[in-house]
Amino acid sequence: MPVHLLAIAAHRDDVELTCAGTLLKASDSGYRTGILDLTEGESGTRGSASLRAEEAERAAAVLGVSERRNAGLRDAYLSNDEATRRVLVAQIRRFAPRVVILPFPVGRHPDHRVASEVSRDACFLAGLARYDAEGEPHRPMKVLYSLAYREDPLKPTFVVDISAQFSRKMEAIRCYASQFDGAKAAGEIFPTGQDLYALVETQDARNGSLIRTRFGEPFFTHETVEIEDVIAMGVQSM
Ligand SMILES: [Zn+2]
Repeated sequence: MPVHLLAIAAHRDDVELTCAGTLLKASDSGYRTGILDLTEGESGTRGSASLRAEEAERAAAVLGVSERRNAGLRDAYLSNDEATRRVLVAQIRRFAPRVVILPFPVGRHPDHRVASEVSRDACFLAGLARYDAEGEPHRPMKVLYSLAYREDPLKPTFVVDISAQFSRKMEAIRCYASQFDGAKAAGEIFPTGQDLYALVETQDARNGSLIRTRFGEPFFTHETVEIEDVIAMGVQSM
């Protein structure tokens, strides 16, 4: 069965940090959601691939995702090459999502940057009827980039209110005890002296404040957002 929303990221736990609230919110609304982790995280400093597999499974249950799959690509060696694109095209065709969430194209970890680019390319190629990969042709309607933890000089195109989902997002993140217990930084999150869990809360509170809610997750799209009814628009101007 196709999913409505698919989040793709390089490592197990990336999706939890960047867009778990949005996945939960979609699931709460009755949509089918999926996660595609590109690597098994075997090159990470903490934990091991097998431990991270168990943690990812528990987190997926908390997030209520319909399916979580792992592309089995080599951690810390991701590249946008033909073999990688073919693997991703087959996975995207299998999930057949309407909307895809990708990492932001700029990042500290090379895998995060490459995951963004190769996944976008694969989303396009997956729709080519004659592209040589498994599955029926399918091109996602929409690509969203997570802007979480980024400090690039651009505003989010929109922020998703995850106030009602925030505690479950933290529960999913806490599944990765091997990665985060005692951690003061992770991936794209720079240290301030706070625990990792407090860092996530601070960032999500800041993003929520942009739309006058308690917690939020920011996204960027290259396309312009269409508004049907300007009278119904939220977020107070003054
Ligand atoms: Zn990562």
